[in-house]
Amino acid sequence: MSTLAGKKAVILGLANDRSIAWGIAQALRAAGAELAFNYLGESLERRVRPLAESLGASIIEPCDVSSDEQIASFFGKVKEKWGGIDILIHSVAFANKTDLSGRFVDTTRDGFRLALDVSAFSLVATAREAEKLMDPAKGGTVITLTYYGSEKVMPGYNVMGVAKAALEASVRYLAHDLGPKKIRVHAISAGPIKTLAAAGGISNFRDFLGQIEQRAPLHENVSPEDVGSLAAYLCQDGARHMTGNVLYVDSGFNIMGA
Ligand code: NAD
Repeated sequence: MSTLAGKKAVILGLANDRSIAWGIAQALRAAGAELAFNYLGESLERRVRPLAESLGASIIEPCDVSSDEQIASFFGKVKEKWGGIDILIHSVAFANKTDLSGRFVDTTRDGFRLALDVSAFSLVATAREAEKLMDPAKGGTVITLTYYGSEKVMPGYNVMGVAKAALEASVRYLAHDLGPKKIRVHAISAGPIKTLAAAGGISNFRDFLGQIEQRAPLHENVSPEDVGSLAAYLCQDGARHMTGNVLYVDSGFNIMGA
């Protein structure tokens, strides 16, 4: 079904074919959306470009979200090529590996600042650019990715849990600010998925996967495609009266108390 035909989507955070952004990109494309992608640095460009081209992307440009200049330049190129956009997918996070093991209490000032800047503030900075490119008559959708470690202690998730808490609160404030322009803002809280960032960065990641199999009501780990299905739904006009939510794709893990 071409429910997103004619819609233009910017996707930030594709690294490879295991990325959550890849599951979302495929779902949006299957629903008829046109796609634009960023990449972080030349080594990722080599992976991102062929994937993006395989989905017919016409915009594939660098953007490090910790740089205001790169954000401005990226969205400037999108504006030049497309004029406007309908969808922003923010699937970006980073923390130093040393801050994703051991004790949270040992997090350094620089490590804290870096994690919060790249993983939370970047949503604010890019949503602001997206707002300028979205038509208030049609509105738009902004979606970011979060994890349950924002709400409950997942040992080892540490500073990223704090960054995700800030990200989820940012979703609510952005939804309030952008609502009058019909721009809807959501976070999808995904269960653990073996991606570059997760498996390579989080020391206890295998435990997170195991807990879903053992304790979640559905006893199955989730995939980027599962996240993509929900993202595509949220971008449709049928979801036009939903905003400011954190929606779970986690086999029900978040409802469990023990
Ligand atoms: P991934 O490694 O495929 O994607 C992370 C992306 O962040 C990469 O494309 C990387 O280039 C990008 N990135 C990091 N620093 C950046 C910067 N300064 N500028 C621009 N881009 C930058 O991993 P993923 O698991 O698909 O992560 C995507 C999102 O999903 C993240 O927000 C992550 O926290 C979230 N998430 C992941 C899981 C999981 O278990 N994999 C679960 C819930 C939420």
